[in-house]
Parts: sequence; C-alpha cells; structure tokens
Amino acid sequence: MPANANSKHEQEKAKIEKKIKELKAKEALQINKLTKTQKNLEKTNHSIKECRNKLQQSQANLSKLESKISSLEYENAKLSQSINKRLRDIYKGERITILNVFFTSNNISRFFDNLYYQKLIIKKDQEAIRELQQKKYELAISKRSAAHEKRQISSNLAYMNRKKMDLNYSAQATANLIERLRTDRKTYEEAQKELERLSGDIEREIGRSLSGSAIMDSVFIRPIMGAITSPFGWRTHPVFGGRRFHSGVDIGGPNHGAIKASNSGKVLHAGWYGGYGKVVIINHGKAKDGQYKGQKVSTLYAHMSNIAVNKGDEVHKGQIVGYEGTTGYSTGPHLHFEVRIDGKPINPLTFIGN
Ligand SMILES: [Zn+2]
Repeated sequence: MPANANSKHEQEKAKIEKKIKELKAKEALQINKLTKTQKNLEKTNHSIKECRNKLQQSQANLSKLESKISSLEYENAKLSQSINKRLRDIYKGERITILNVFFTSNNISRFFDNLYYQKLIIKKDQEAIRELQQKKYELAISKRSAAHEKRQISSNLAYMNRKKMDLNYSAQATANLIERLRTDRKTYEEAQKELERLSGDIEREIGRSLSGSAIMDSVFIRPIMGAITSPFGWRTHPVFGGRRFHSGVDIGGPNHGAIKASNSGKVLHAGWYGGYGKVVIINHGKAKDGQYKGQKVSTLYAHMSNIAVNKGDEVHKGQIVGYEGTTGYSTGPHLHFEVRIDGKPINPLTFIGN
C-alpha cells in the first residue's frame, strides 16, 4: 500500500491546519468581545466623568444652601437679640415713666410716642423673624432634597466605578485568553512549520541518496533497551506544550547508553539537525517484503550525546551509531527513534515491535 504513509502524513497536516483555523476563529471571536468590552469601558469612563461633574455641582449647590441657611440663622439671632433688647428697654422705660409721669407731664406725650414707635419696630422685627423662619424652613427643604440628590449621584458613581472595575477585569481576562489562543496557534504553526521543514528536508535528503538495493534483512531491532516513554502520533509536546505531531517514539534508555543501528544500511546523515539535536539517519534501501515492499526505508536516531559514525559509513545491524543524550529540544536523556518510508515517518513500533 504505497499511498498509506503519504495519506497519513496528509491527514496529519490537515489536522494541524484545521486546529489553526479553529484557533483563529476563536481568537477573532475574543477580539470582537474585547473590542465591545473596551467600547463599554470607554462609555463607562465617560459616564463616570459626567457623574463626577454632577456630584461637584451638587456639592456646590449644597454648600451654597448651607451657607444661606447659616447666614439666615445669624440674621435671625441678631434680630431676636435686638427684639429682646428693645423689649427690655421698653419695660425699663415703662417703669421709669410710671414713677415720673406726674412730675414730668410735658414729657408724657413724647414718651408715649416713643413707646408707640418702639412697639411698631418690634412688630416689624417679629414679622421679619417670621419671614426669616419661613425662608429657613424652605431652605431646609431644599437642603434635604439637595443632600438626597448628592447621595443618589454618589451611589450612581460608586455603581459606575464598580462597573468599570468589572469591565477592566473582563477586558484583562479576554486579553489573557487571546494571548493564550495566540500562543496555542503559534505552537501549532511552529509544529506545522517544523513538521514540514524537517520532514521535508529529511524526505528530500533520503529521497536523493537512497540506493535501490534491497535490504538484506527485514527484521529490525530496537536500538536501545528501555520503555517507550512517548508514543508515535499526536501528543502534548513536553517542551512547547500544546498538541504536536510526534514523528517517532521516545525510548527511555540509560543516559549515554549505546544506540545500535536498527538494521544494516548506509549513514545518510551524522550531525546536528535542528530541534532533533545530534542525529544519525541510516538508509536501509528498499523493503524486500511486507507492508512496505519496494519502498525506501530509513531510520533516525535523535538527541544523542555523541555520534559514533560518519556520513557515508556502511553500518551493520546492531552496530553502535551513537550514545543516548538530551541534545536539541529535549526534556531529559532519551532516544527519539523514527522509521521513515520514502522519507515519511510511520509508527516505528510496526517495525521494532512493542
Ligand atoms: Zn521524540
């Protein structure tokens, strides 16, 4: 089935593309939400400004009313004082006059005139006081309503400030989500690029140099003893996070443990290979039989601490090609092992067994 590996690769690419598209849509939705929140925030800020102005006006109005009331109170007190004084004077005057009325008869009419006018003044003063009290009463009502208005504006302002805080929080949360979606997308795009670049490079390199000779032995061996710590296919990347395609299996063999050629072949690459670190790629020629009969088979050994072969070397199955390490994008010593058919990665376990 020659199309199998290729179509699988295409499927993987399509999966990543779909994921990127999904993330972009989510991002657009969140950006839209953020824009709305920011507009709302702007409106709220404007309302807060208006509210603060109103509050200032209300406070000024209240202060004016308070100063009017206190000046009325002062006037009132002054008037009361003058009335009291006049009343005392009249009383005193009346007493004196009663004693003197018979002796100073020429002064009597003047006295009564004087008394009459003084009483008239008192009457007027009392009227003025009543007026003042009425005014004071009206001002007190105005003051009460102004204070009520001020309280309402204050509570409105408090509400706006709370709303602003909520909106700010929401905007921050949305921005964080957008950032996360972007990072996720970038990881996928990176994975996509890396998958395409490295796979493509390896594919081309393998395609260019593979000889047509059939492999002598169709049985592949496990290059190092140890558990499979990460399987082939989609997984959460240990270094970048996010879902990525794993083009091989990770085998947790002993650090600096010897890595053996899985089959006989010719060394296609021996050296650093991007995120793969120190890498050996062996070309095994065309498969003699089995599922991939007639297709070119190669194996790849990554993250090595040291490489024991050179490009162009003929190696035999079981020969040491390098030592386990953690070079390149790796969280710890392990062997990243790939099997490629016509340059495209397939699950190595179909070749080396579990
Ligand atoms: Zn790996």
